[in-house]
Amino acid sequence: MQIKRLRLTGFKSFVDPADLRIEPGLTGIVGPNGCGKSNLLEALRWAMGENSAKSMRGAGMEDVIFAGTASRPQRDFAEVSILAEQAGGPDEGELEVVRRIERGAGSAYRINGRDVRAKDVGLLFADSATGAHSPALVSQGRIGAIIQAKPGERRQMLEEAAGISGLHVRRKDAEQKLRATETNLTRLDEMISDQE
Ligand code: ATP
Repeated sequence: MQIKRLRLTGFKSFVDPADLRIEPGLTGIVGPNGCGKSNLLEALRWAMGENSAKSMRGAGMEDVIFAGTASRPQRDFAEVSILAEQAGGPDEGELEVVRRIERGAGSAYRINGRDVRAKDVGLLFADSATGAHSPALVSQGRIGAIIQAKPGERRQMLEEAAGISGLHVRRKDAEQKLRATETNLTRLDEMISDQE
Protein backbone atom coordinates (compact mmCIF):
# COMPACT_ATOMS: atom_id res chain seq x y z
CA MET A 1 0.00 0.00 0.00
CA GLN A 2 1.28 3.45 -0.87
CA ILE A 3 -0.11 6.44 1.00
CA LYS A 4 -0.53 9.27 -1.49
CA ARG A 5 -2.28 12.02 0.40
CA LEU A 6 -3.17 13.07 3.91
CA ARG A 7 -5.99 15.57 4.41
CA LEU A 8 -6.72 17.16 7.78
CA THR A 9 -9.55 19.41 8.95
CA GLY A 10 -9.84 20.68 12.52
CA PHE A 11 -7.27 18.13 13.71
CA LYS A 12 -5.15 19.54 16.56
CA SER A 13 -3.30 22.64 15.28
CA PHE A 14 -4.55 22.07 11.67
CA VAL A 15 -7.75 24.07 12.05
CA ASP A 16 -8.07 24.92 8.34
CA PRO A 17 -8.25 22.11 5.78
CA ALA A 18 -4.72 21.02 4.88
CA ASP A 19 -3.70 18.65 2.08
CA LEU A 20 -0.33 16.90 2.02
CA ARG A 21 0.75 15.04 -1.09
CA ILE A 22 3.09 12.18 -0.25
CA GLU A 23 5.30 11.26 -3.19
CA PRO A 24 6.99 7.87 -3.59
CA GLY A 25 10.33 7.65 -1.75
CA LEU A 26 11.44 9.31 1.44
CA THR A 27 9.35 12.15 2.85
CA GLY A 28 10.80 14.60 5.35
CA ILE A 29 8.78 17.09 7.41
CA VAL A 30 10.74 20.06 8.62
CA GLY A 31 9.71 23.12 10.60
CA PRO A 32 10.27 25.04 13.83
CA ASN A 33 9.44 23.55 17.22
CA GLY A 34 5.71 23.34 17.85
CA CYS A 35 4.68 23.89 14.20
CA GLY A 36 2.80 20.56 14.07
CA LYS A 37 5.22 17.94 12.69
CA SER A 38 4.28 15.34 15.30
CA ASN A 39 0.60 16.22 14.85
CA LEU A 40 0.88 15.06 11.22
CA LEU A 41 2.20 11.63 12.19
CA GLU A 42 -0.48 11.43 14.87
CA ALA A 43 -3.14 12.28 12.27
CA LEU A 44 -1.94 9.34 10.18
CA ARG A 45 -2.04 6.95 13.14
CA TRP A 46 -5.39 8.31 14.29
CA ALA A 47 -7.02 7.74 10.89
CA MET A 48 -5.62 4.20 10.95
CA GLY A 49 -7.64 3.55 14.11
CA GLU A 50 -5.51 4.62 17.08
CA ASN A 51 -7.73 4.32 20.13
CA SER A 52 -5.42 5.45 22.92
CA ALA A 53 -5.92 9.13 23.73
CA LYS A 54 -2.71 9.02 25.78
CA SER A 55 -0.65 8.02 22.77
CA MET A 56 -2.20 11.00 20.97
CA ARG A 57 -0.87 13.15 23.85
CA GLY A 58 -4.39 13.90 25.10
CA ALA A 59 -6.56 13.13 28.13
CA GLY A 60 -9.54 12.11 25.99
CA MET A 61 -9.98 11.41 22.29
CA GLU A 62 -11.86 14.70 21.75
CA ASP A 63 -8.58 16.48 22.55
CA VAL A 64 -7.60 15.88 18.90
CA ILE A 65 -10.25 18.46 17.88
CA PHE A 66 -8.89 21.98 17.41
CA ALA A 67 -9.22 23.51 20.89
CA GLY A 68 -9.26 27.18 19.83
CA THR A 69 -6.79 30.03 20.26
CA ALA A 70 -7.07 33.63 21.41
CA SER A 71 -8.20 34.60 17.92
CA ARG A 72 -10.11 31.50 16.72
CA PRO A 73 -12.94 29.57 18.35
CA GLN A 74 -12.69 25.84 18.96
CA ARG A 75 -14.07 23.41 16.38
CA ASP A 76 -16.80 20.81 16.92
CA PHE A 77 -15.23 18.13 14.78
CA ALA A 78 -11.95 16.84 13.39
CA GLU A 79 -11.55 14.78 10.24
CA VAL A 80 -8.54 13.06 8.72
CA SER A 81 -8.53 11.33 5.35
CA ILE A 82 -5.87 9.02 3.96
CA LEU A 83 -5.75 8.42 0.23
CA ALA A 84 -3.83 5.26 -0.59
CA GLU A 85 -3.10 3.05 -3.57
CA GLN A 86 -3.50 -0.64 -2.92
CA ALA A 87 -1.70 -3.06 -5.22
CA GLY A 88 -3.26 -6.53 -5.39
CA GLY A 89 -5.76 -8.16 -3.05
CA PRO A 90 -9.53 -7.67 -2.81
CA ASP A 91 -9.20 -3.90 -2.18
CA GLU A 92 -6.94 -3.23 -5.19
CA GLY A 93 -7.01 0.35 -6.50
CA GLU A 94 -7.43 3.73 -4.86
CA LEU A 95 -8.76 3.76 -1.32
CA GLU A 96 -9.91 6.67 0.81
CA VAL A 97 -10.08 6.02 4.55
CA VAL A 98 -11.72 8.75 6.63
CA ARG A 99 -12.05 9.07 10.39
CA ARG A 100 -14.16 11.82 11.89
CA ILE A 101 -14.82 12.72 15.50
CA GLU A 102 -17.53 15.05 16.74
CA ARG A 103 -17.78 16.46 20.23
CA GLY A 104 -20.11 14.27 22.25
CA ALA A 105 -20.63 11.81 19.37
CA GLY A 106 -17.38 9.82 19.17
CA SER A 107 -15.60 8.58 16.05
CA ALA A 108 -16.92 7.29 12.75
CA TYR A 109 -14.98 5.64 9.91
CA ARG A 110 -15.55 5.43 6.17
CA ILE A 111 -13.75 3.51 3.44
CA ASN A 112 -14.48 4.89 -0.04
CA GLY A 113 -17.59 6.64 1.31
CA ARG A 114 -19.02 3.53 2.98
CA ASP A 115 -19.53 3.49 6.78
CA VAL A 116 -17.31 0.83 8.36
CA ARG A 117 -16.23 -0.31 11.83
CA ALA A 118 -12.92 0.69 13.43
CA LYS A 119 -12.01 -2.99 13.22
CA ASP A 120 -12.41 -3.00 9.41
CA VAL A 121 -9.98 -0.09 9.13
CA GLY A 122 -7.54 -1.82 11.51
CA LEU A 123 -7.67 -5.01 9.42
CA LEU A 124 -7.23 -3.13 6.15
CA PHE A 125 -3.98 -1.57 7.36
CA ALA A 126 -2.78 -4.69 9.21
CA ASP A 127 -3.10 -6.68 5.97
CA SER A 128 -0.87 -4.06 4.32
CA ALA A 129 1.80 -4.42 7.04
CA THR A 130 1.03 -1.03 8.54
CA GLY A 131 -1.39 0.50 11.04
CA ALA A 132 -1.66 2.76 14.07
CA HIS A 133 0.88 0.70 16.04
CA SER A 134 3.12 -0.27 13.16
CA PRO A 135 6.85 -0.04 13.93
CA ALA A 136 7.09 1.60 10.51
CA LEU A 137 5.68 4.78 12.12
CA VAL A 138 8.52 5.88 14.35
CA SER A 139 7.50 8.68 16.69
CA GLN A 140 9.64 10.45 19.29
CA GLY A 141 10.95 8.05 21.95
CA ARG A 142 9.95 5.02 19.87
CA ILE A 143 13.49 4.10 18.77
CA GLY A 144 14.49 3.52 22.41
CA ALA A 145 11.35 1.44 22.96
CA ILE A 146 12.15 -0.72 19.90
CA ILE A 147 15.74 -1.31 21.08
CA GLN A 148 14.53 -2.29 24.56
CA ALA A 149 11.58 -4.38 23.33
CA LYS A 150 11.05 -7.82 24.90
CA PRO A 151 11.26 -10.91 22.61
CA GLY A 152 7.43 -11.15 22.40
CA GLU A 153 7.17 -7.49 21.34
CA ARG A 154 9.96 -7.98 18.76
CA ARG A 155 8.09 -10.96 17.34
CA GLN A 156 4.97 -8.77 17.02
CA MET A 157 7.00 -6.18 15.08
CA LEU A 158 8.36 -8.85 12.73
CA GLU A 159 4.85 -10.23 12.20
CA GLU A 160 3.58 -6.74 11.38
CA ALA A 161 6.45 -6.21 8.95
CA ALA A 162 5.60 -9.56 7.33
CA GLY A 163 1.95 -8.45 6.97
CA ILE A 164 0.48 -11.33 8.97
CA SER A 165 -0.89 -9.45 11.99
CA GLY A 166 -4.31 -9.22 10.25
CA LEU A 167 -4.38 -13.02 10.18
CA HIS A 168 -3.96 -13.12 13.97
CA VAL A 169 -6.99 -10.84 14.41
CA ARG A 170 -9.04 -13.07 12.10
CA ARG A 171 -7.86 -16.21 13.94
CA LYS A 172 -8.98 -14.68 17.27
CA ASP A 173 -12.40 -13.88 15.74
CA ALA A 174 -12.73 -17.41 14.35
CA GLU A 175 -11.78 -18.94 17.73
CA GLN A 176 -14.43 -16.80 19.48
CA LYS A 177 -17.09 -17.91 16.97
CA LEU A 178 -16.00 -21.53 17.42
CA ARG A 179 -16.31 -21.28 21.21
CA ALA A 180 -19.78 -19.65 20.92
CA THR A 181 -20.88 -22.43 18.54
CA GLU A 182 -19.57 -25.12 20.91
CA THR A 183 -21.52 -23.53 23.77
CA ASN A 184 -24.68 -23.49 21.60
CA LEU A 185 -24.18 -27.15 20.67
CA THR A 186 -23.79 -28.13 24.34
CA ARG A 187 -27.00 -26.25 25.19
CA LEU A 188 -28.78 -27.94 22.29
CA ASP A 189 -27.63 -31.38 23.50
CA GLU A 190 -28.96 -30.54 26.97
CA MET A 191 -32.32 -29.42 25.56
CA ILE A 192 -32.60 -32.59 23.43
CA SER A 193 -31.85 -34.85 26.40
CA ASP A 194 -34.41 -32.90 28.51
CA GLN A 195 -37.05 -33.65 25.85
CA GLU A 196 -36.20 -37.39 25.80
P1 ATP B 1 8.65 19.70 18.13
O1 ATP B 1 9.59 20.00 17.01
O2 ATP B 1 8.89 20.58 19.32
O3 ATP B 1 8.53 18.25 18.50
P2 ATP B 1 6.27 19.67 16.46
O4 ATP B 1 6.51 20.44 15.20
O5 ATP B 1 6.31 18.20 16.40
O6 ATP B 1 7.18 20.20 17.65
P3 ATP B 1 3.62 19.31 17.47
O7 ATP B 1 3.97 18.67 18.76
O8 ATP B 1 3.14 18.46 16.36
O9 ATP B 1 4.85 20.17 16.98
O10 ATP B 1 2.52 20.44 17.65
C1 ATP B 1 2.35 21.07 18.87
C2 ATP B 1 1.37 22.22 18.64
O11 ATP B 1 0.08 21.69 18.39
C3 ATP B 1 1.30 23.07 19.91
O12 ATP B 1 1.39 24.43 19.51
C4 ATP B 1 -0.07 22.76 20.45
O13 ATP B 1 -0.65 23.89 21.07
C5 ATP B 1 -0.84 22.42 19.19
N1 ATP B 1 -2.01 21.60 19.49
C6 ATP B 1 -2.04 20.34 19.96
N2 ATP B 1 -3.32 19.91 20.15
C7 ATP B 1 -4.10 20.95 19.77
C8 ATP B 1 -5.52 21.15 19.73
N3 ATP B 1 -6.40 20.21 20.09
N4 ATP B 1 -5.97 22.37 19.31
C9 ATP B 1 -5.11 23.32 18.92
N5 ATP B 1 -3.77 23.20 18.90
C10 ATP B 1 -3.27 22.02 19.35
